Amino acid sequence: MSDCLFCKIIEGNIPSDKVYEDDDVYAFKDIHPKAPVHVLVIPKLHIATLSDCDDPALLGMLMDRVRMIADDVLTLEAGYRVVINVREGGGQEVFHLHIHILGGKKLPF
Ligand code: 5GP
Ligand code: ZN
Repeated sequence: MSDCLFCKIIEGNIPSDKVYEDDDVYAFKDIHPKAPVHVLVIPKLHIATLSDCDDPALLGMLMDRVRMIADDVLTLEAGYRVVINVREGGGQEVFHLHIHILGGKKLPF
């Protein structure tokens, strides 16, 4: 989508600190980290919000990649948190579905 920030990051038109990429997903460091490790995992397909995705296979693939990136790429052995903000009320600011991985310290809840 031409006016989507995260689509531009996937296309390389806006620079990002990539941690992982394959045919389906792109993962990069959050520009304003809220934990020592803060990575965003996004599908390459433009989907605005979690509520706009009714594809169980795609959602399953995304969660599997999140697990793999957290465990194998970021090696967050002590654990991590996964967050999806949905629409304005949920704190979503960028309307391209993304999954936050937060870790690197004990996170209060
Ligand atoms: P949301 O609030 O939509 O769930 O999360 C959006 C996240 O994207 C925020 O944590 C914000 O810091 C991050 N973000 C916004 N613009 C950019 C950018 O240009 N580059 C990177 N790497 N992260 C961004
Ligand atoms: Zn997009």
